Amino acid sequence: MLNPIKKIARFFKLRAAFAHALALLFLSGFAFVKTADAGINSMRVGQGVGNVRLVFDADQSFDYKVFLLNDPKRLIIDTQNVKVNPQIVSKLDSNNFISNPRLGTVGVDDVRIAFNLRKAAVVKKAFLLPPQSNFGWRFVVDLELASEREFASKLGSSHALTNDNYKESKVAEKAASNKQVIRENNVKKIIVLDPGHGGQDPGAIGYSGVYEKNITLAMGKELKALLDRRGKYKVYLTRSTDKFIPLRERVKIARRYKADLFMSIHADSALNRNAKGLSVYTLSENASDKEAAALAERENKADVISGLNLVEHSKEVSDILINLAQRETMNRSSEFAAFMVQEMKKSVKLVANTHRFAGFAVLKAPDIPAVLLEMGYLSNRQEEKLLQQKNYRKKLAESTAEAIDKYFENMQHASLF
Ligand SMILES: [Zn+2]
Repeated sequence: MLNPIKKIARFFKLRAAFAHALALLFLSGFAFVKTADAGINSMRVGQGVGNVRLVFDADQSFDYKVFLLNDPKRLIIDTQNVKVNPQIVSKLDSNNFISNPRLGTVGVDDVRIAFNLRKAAVVKKAFLLPPQSNFGWRFVVDLELASEREFASKLGSSHALTNDNYKESKVAEKAASNKQVIRENNVKKIIVLDPGHGGQDPGAIGYSGVYEKNITLAMGKELKALLDRRGKYKVYLTRSTDKFIPLRERVKIARRYKADLFMSIHADSALNRNAKGLSVYTLSENASDKEAAALAERENKADVISGLNLVEHSKEVSDILINLAQRETMNRSSEFAAFMVQEMKKSVKLVANTHRFAGFAVLKAPDIPAVLLEMGYLSNRQEEKLLQQKNYRKKLAESTAEAIDKYFENMQHASLF
C-alpha cells in the first residue's frame, strides 16, 4: 500500500512521464515508434589467432563504456540510451575467449552486457561505425590475448574505452590510415600463389597419368616469374618444390606474408572424359552446384591423405567466415574472379558456369581475398596435353597477370568492415 502523499507524487511523476512521451511522439512522429523496438539487435563474434572481435548491429548510435573486471575475469559493455534485444546473448557461439554472455541494468536505464573471459585479455579497440552500404550502425569491440599482468593493469572503469576515447582514437586512426595509404601506394602488393597438392598428395591423375601436383607447380613458378617481371608485386609461392603442405598451413603462409591476394592453382579431373574447361572458384558455404561441392570435397581431401584431418579442424576458421571482414573479403574475391573470367575468356575455353562457389579449406583466410583456379581437366586427353605445354600455361599465366593488374587498379581502398 502506498501512502496518499506517495500516491500523489507517483501520479505527478507518471503524468510528467506521459507528457514527456507525448512530446517525444509529437516531435519525432513515427521515428519514435520505430525507436521503440530499435536498438542493438544482433551480435556477431569473429575469432582470430590471439584475438576476438565482437560486432553489435544497431539501428541507432549510442553511448558506451567498455572495460574489464576481475574475479572472475569479465568484459563489461555498458550502453546508454539504447535498447538491447535480449536475444543477442542467446546466440553466442562457444569461443575460446569469452563465455556466458548476459544482460543486466545499471542505474535507471543503462544496459550492461557482460561476458566471462576464459583467458587474460585486454580491450584493444571499441568504436561505432555509422551506417554504410548494407550495414546499419555497428559497434565493434576488439579483444586481444594478454598476459595476466597486462590484464591486471587495465582493470576497472578508469581504463574504460568510451565514445570520447573513440573520437580521439579515430583521429589517430585516420592519421595512421593516411600514412598507410601513402605507404600502400609505394609498396608492392603481395601475392601468394599456391600450387595445389605436392609430396605424397599427387592431386588429380590425368588421362595418361600426369600428376596435378606437377602441373600446378610448373604454373605457379611461371606465373610468379611473369608477375615478378612486372616489378610492382611481391610474389611468394606456398611451395616451390614437390612437398606436401597441409591446407591450413597454406592459409597460414598467406597470412604470414600478409598477402593482398591469394590464388590456389589446380587442375581438375572428372569421370566424364569429355569434361573440359577452366573455372575460377571463390569461397562460399553453399556450393553453387553439385560438381563444385564435389570438387571442394576432393580438394579438401589433401589433408586426409596425409593423415591430418585439418579440414575438420578448420571448422573454427570457417565460423569466422560469416563474420563481417569475411563478407568484404568475399566481395573482393568475387571481384577478382570476375576479372579472371573476363581475361581468361580472351584466351581459353571456359566451363559454362565459370565463376563458381564452394567451401574450399584453402580459401578460408578470413582477411585475404582468395580464389582457386582450376586450369582445366587433366582427365580430358586434349586438355591434359595442353596443360603440359609451356606455351599454353604461358597464355593462362598472362591472362591471370592481366586480371591481377586490373583487380588492383580497380580496387577501392575501402576498409575491411
Ligand atoms: Zn587440386
